[in-house]
Amino acid sequence: MQVLLPHSLDEALAIKADHPEALPLNGGTDLMVELNFGRLRPAAIVDLNRVAELTAWREQDGHVFLGSGVTYTSIVREMQAYKPLVQASRSVGSPQIRNRGTVGGNLGTASPAGDALPVLAAYDAEVILQSRARGERSLPWNLFLTGPKKTAIAPDELIIGTSWRRLRGPGSFSKIGTRNAMVIAVAGLCLVIDEERRRVNVALGSVGPTILRATQAEERVAAALTTSGTWDDRSAPLNPQWVDEFAELVAQAAQPLDDVRGTAAYRRHGCRVLAKRAISWALSEWRLPTWL
Ligand SMILES: Cc1cc2nc3c(=O)[nH]c(=O)nc-3n(C[C@H](O)[C@H](O)[C@H](O)COP(=O)(O)OP(=O)(O)OC[C@H]3O[C@@H](n4cnc5c(N)ncnc54)[C@H](O)[C@@H]3O)c2cc1C
Repeated sequence: MQVLLPHSLDEALAIKADHPEALPLNGGTDLMVELNFGRLRPAAIVDLNRVAELTAWREQDGHVFLGSGVTYTSIVREMQAYKPLVQASRSVGSPQIRNRGTVGGNLGTASPAGDALPVLAAYDAEVILQSRARGERSLPWNLFLTGPKKTAIAPDELIIGTSWRRLRGPGSFSKIGTRNAMVIAVAGLCLVIDEERRRVNVALGSVGPTILRATQAEERVAAALTTSGTWDDRSAPLNPQWVDEFAELVAQAAQPLDDVRGTAAYRRHGCRVLAKRAISWALSEWRLPTWL
């Protein structure tokens, strides 16, 4: 097996153009598992760890760009303003996995249980891809993730990073698993309030073939906040009757299967519980009375 070591993005793209079969390696926390178990035997690996252009994140013109090589540890240390992303990053694996693992790798693997992915979905993030032949293109998250462990990336492309409009409003990521650390999610949920667009975005992980948005639930909660006047006055009284309906719509948006980690019924129930908690935390952060 050839191991190719580019030192710049140009060099990495040239390698990928000449060796489209070469598998990119970031932290290696997914790829090395596949290699060690003999499930993959690529002819070549292109190790992106020396490509500085991929390891930075920045804010610009109201948008955030997160390079594909930024590790979870760096996110936890440096991106406190993006709480749901920090919460998801903190929940990944162990310190060793977080020191190596990246959001680019989470996108590359495209597991429905990838913890960063519901956050990117709730942010309405775009995935930025680049090839030497065709340059850069940007795909909305739901066009990039095409199925379980399937993406729209072309063989000569690299994931450069992900980008989203900076949202104003509270939010959270939470997941259910068999224990509190080193666990693959049985169900995961990210909820963010977008004050500017008067929307509440809800994304689910581990409960379908890929990441799902609970669009009917989103509409229900946005309507409740409109009817009560909460968008304009956060202390406006809220009738909590819609919360159960909201949680039920979130549970209905799931497309779970029975598998070794949990039954479909348990996963759906998990979504219900996570949804209630997430909306309660978000509204509490808005300094509403604690009525849930
Ligand atoms: C013990 C353990 C615990 C884990 N716990 C969790 C967890 O709690 N939550 C979770 O979500 N994940 C978990 N994982 C999985 C893994 O850590 C994450 O998916 C991580 O984000 C992968 O990032 P990476 O940089 O290590 O990816 P890599 O292994 O380097 O790459 C993963 C895939 O993406 C492709 N790829 C990487 N970079 C690029 C690029 N720039 N362009 C194109 N393709 C690219 C690779 O070719 C490969 O197919 C765990 C893994 C282990 C071993």
